[in-house]
Amino acid sequence: MRNGRVQYYAAKRGGSGLLVVSALGHLYSLTQVGGGWTYPVYEMKWVPASQVNRANKRVNAYIETISALSKGVDRFVSACDYDQEGSLIAYNVLRYAVGDHSLANSRRMLYSTLTRRDLADSWENMEPTLDYPVIAAGKTRHEVDWLFGINLSRALTLAVRKTSGAKKTLSIGRVQGPTLSFVKEREAVIRGYVPVPYWRVYVETIVAGETIPMEYEKKRLEREVEARELASECRGRDGKVVDVGKRSERLLPPPPFNLGDLQREAYRVFKVSPTGTLRAAEKLYLGTYISYPRTSSQRLPPTLDIRGILEQLSEQRAYSKHAEELLKRKSLRPRQGNKNDPAHPAIHPTGAKPRRLKEDEANIYDLIVKRFLSCLGRPAVKEKIDAEVDVNGHSFYMRGVKTTKKGWLDAYAPYVEDKEMLLPEIEPGVVVPVTKFSTRRGYTRPPKRYNPSSLLRQMESHEIGTKATRANIIDTLYRRGYLTGKRITATDLGLRIAETLEGYCPSILSVETTRELEASLDEIQVGEKSPEEVVEGVKEALTPILAQFKESEGEIGAAIAEAVAEGPAEEEPCLTDCRVCGRERSGDSVYCERHQAAYGSLEESYPRWRRALGLSWKEYLGKVNKISGTGMWVKEVINDILSGS
Ligand SMILES: [Zn+2]
Repeated sequence: MRNGRVQYYAAKRGGSGLLVVSALGHLYSLTQVGGGWTYPVYEMKWVPASQVNRANKRVNAYIETISALSKGVDRFVSACDYDQEGSLIAYNVLRYAVGDHSLANSRRMLYSTLTRRDLADSWENMEPTLDYPVIAAGKTRHEVDWLFGINLSRALTLAVRKTSGAKKTLSIGRVQGPTLSFVKEREAVIRGYVPVPYWRVYVETIVAGETIPMEYEKKRLEREVEARELASECRGRDGKVVDVGKRSERLLPPPPFNLGDLQREAYRVFKVSPTGTLRAAEKLYLGTYISYPRTSSQRLPPTLDIRGILEQLSEQRAYSKHAEELLKRKSLRPRQGNKNDPAHPAIHPTGAKPRRLKEDEANIYDLIVKRFLSCLGRPAVKEKIDAEVDVNGHSFYMRGVKTTKKGWLDAYAPYVEDKEMLLPEIEPGVVVPVTKFSTRRGYTRPPKRYNPSSLLRQMESHEIGTKATRANIIDTLYRRGYLTGKRITATDLGLRIAETLEGYCPSILSVETTRELEASLDEIQVGEKSPEEVVEGVKEALTPILAQFKESEGEIGAAIAEAVAEGPAEEEPCLTDCRVCGRERSGDSVYCERHQAAYGSLEESYPRWRRALGLSWKEYLGKVNKISGTGMWVKEVINDILSGS
């Protein structure tokens, strides 16, 4: 049935009439009580989302429909996704679109898949009331994020506007701050990086007619002389096998996916971004093909009908072979991971056969099913061989790897990384010739830039954000122009914001502040902390930060404004400017903080270069300047030094 543009359903069950109507995500948003574009603001209220952002005007039709349909209804059931967001969506709808009186007559359905069976089950066994602790945690998360977001964003924007007149709106949030800070720190290391040289040896031998590579006992040599000596002592000589070690290694199946693991694996094998993976998984969930994807659990509950799922999967040609093999077993026990989630099990297929999937969705589905089949599989066994070869007193190693039992690896193909290196039979005492010996100079590399997947893992390991929001936060930082590129680079604006906040109010960027707050939200969800206490705590924490911000508005604005301005600021060079970039000098250095740090790395790495190649300071600078791994700020400093002399 329809009410204007909103579709709803009417049905009968157990003798009573049922009306089923959906929301459209959040129908209500937080807004400021009273006017004025200033800060601090601490008073907020929930209003229809269309009042906060005109782009949301579609919510009005839903609010009107729900409100109209609720007349004469005597019981309400919240059947939104079972998590903080879903619980809060239903609560706000009941409170504001229906009215407070409905809360006492409301119940909650809990489920993890949308299959007919699970929904019927959850209808029969619904909770007698709404899930208030979960609602409270969700509501507090929104309120706290609103308090941080609105105050800090206004503070930043006003600081820049007052100093430079620039109109750009800047923003930063509670989880965005520390995430931006991760990227900034990495960026600073990369731009300030000074590579150092090393030498590697490449050695080959021939055993039973086969060419086999050998590794030297040291992966890297630090001095050129050392590499030359080793070459003259080993090139063209014979070596003798002195020891052959064999060991077999059991490779346990992987646990089933939680959202983070799925996002990482999808990025590894398909290069799909974490948000793209979440979007595809959400589609698969709505199609009833997989269980609820926003879960942190790596466990499948004993109540899950694994046999039933396998029977259904065996009807899909791609999975029939492995599903049937598993069905022959007497007992099926999945490998369980350590992480648990009280609301949902690990992501698993329901068995329902998908239809008309888009490419990303089909890929993600295949990955989820194969992971599910793998976690029920037997361990794989690999045999590893290390043969030690003595050449003129130096140790070299031949290394072999052979998979002797494929186990779960078979079900996970082609997503498994399985490298083999087969060795011929080797016994101690055998003499093997060094048929090839070469040394190559290399340079150490700066740490890798984050990609969306590794940045997500970094957030996860520091427990900031939630499984449902992390991917979005990274997207937001891109949208605001703080990050760019698939191999993530901080933009000039992103760097300046992070550097400035670090200088004036470091707690906004600190992982601890954010993590403590996440912990408090978890405590609300289990009923151990009151929402009021947490929100009041946040207001108290923000007050001194915002006061400090106001006090330093001029400096903060000036530091960021240049990155916001259309072109470079026209200013007379002045004695207190960095010799390279014109930013403010650091202490009594002739450079700013960035370039002073780069100069520091140059000084620090010089002794290693002198030892390795015996270069003078000038020769060293010239050499480092030509290497691709050398950081941008380092090259700028080198050019400054070389041009000044
Ligand atoms: Zn500088």
